[in-house]
Amino acid sequence: MRVVKSIDEFKEALNYRSEELVQLYDEPVLFDFSQSDRRPFFVSTLLHGNETSGWEAIRSLVSEALENEGIPSFLLLLGNLPAAERNLRHLAGQPDFNRIWDRGDTPYHQWAREVLEFVRAKHPWYSLDIHNNTGPNPHHSIITSLDESTLQSARLFSQNAIFAQQPPGVLTRRCAEFSIALTIEAGLPQDPHSTIRALNFIQKLWDRQDIPSINFSDLKIFENSVRVVLENAAELTSEDVPHFAPFLHRFNFKTIPAGTKLAKLAKPKTRLIALDEQQQDRTEDYLSYDGSNILVRQDTIMSMYTEDPLIVRQDCVCYFLNTLDAESITNSRLAV
Ligand SMILES: [Zn+2]
Repeated sequence: MRVVKSIDEFKEALNYRSEELVQLYDEPVLFDFSQSDRRPFFVSTLLHGNETSGWEAIRSLVSEALENEGIPSFLLLLGNLPAAERNLRHLAGQPDFNRIWDRGDTPYHQWAREVLEFVRAKHPWYSLDIHNNTGPNPHHSIITSLDESTLQSARLFSQNAIFAQQPPGVLTRRCAEFSIALTIEAGLPQDPHSTIRALNFIQKLWDRQDIPSINFSDLKIFENSVRVVLENAAELTSEDVPHFAPFLHRFNFKTIPAGTKLAKLAKPKTRLIALDEQQQDRTEDYLSYDGSNILVRQDTIMSMYTEDPLIVRQDCVCYFLNTLDAESITNSRLAV
């Protein structure tokens, strides 16, 4: 684990765009500017190398702060810099850097454990993991806890939040053990508004020790019911990825009616399957096959839809969501 405490070194790094950072660091780097008398604000970004808005936001915010009042107590983790160099989510042969924060024996899991212990020992009051959307859906947050502070800070970012209990190994879920924790999906990486959204959100919180009190009663909370993935994706090439219906991105965060065609198989033996949070196969409930066409079996809300064959192979096609009502939130809280 590489930890940097030198502000001069950090200032130098601020001159580098995400794809250039590898010239300074050929591995992930954790900047520690925590102050012993003030609980730090922990920011992580570039866990996915092609999701650059978080670093752009930090560069701009920190440069300005250094010229003015100085920087507050904070920790910054820059994740997959070798993948950032090539503008990829992760490199071939690497795991997804936002799936390694739980059990596992690889050197990546070992590194993740060291980072987590280091950060935990600093007692951050807030942990923010900044991502970009992989598809053209609205910016939103992902929460792993339903306590009031988390919901309040989710609303501070966006009206839409996803309560995610899967997939396993996500950083925010671990950080929620010791701080308020939120993932933001700030919008598409190439959209300059995504950087501004991330910047504004960090700025609201990073020199505080609590969430500003706001009304969050209009926060829409969704829950992942299943993830739609390509079966045996690791063994397939981009030519094997099904052809998706061209209008589907319009359904992001909206109800997609039963019977809608999701995709057409490119090869007879490839299949899309739906996995629930326990990684159980729920394809029968959510998808139906009509020859080579794949249809949605029941009305469902879709999110994070992507047609990018590489993302489909490395991660998933989309999630299907349920809305979470006040009663189920209360029940989830009681269950914790
Ligand atoms: Zn991401």
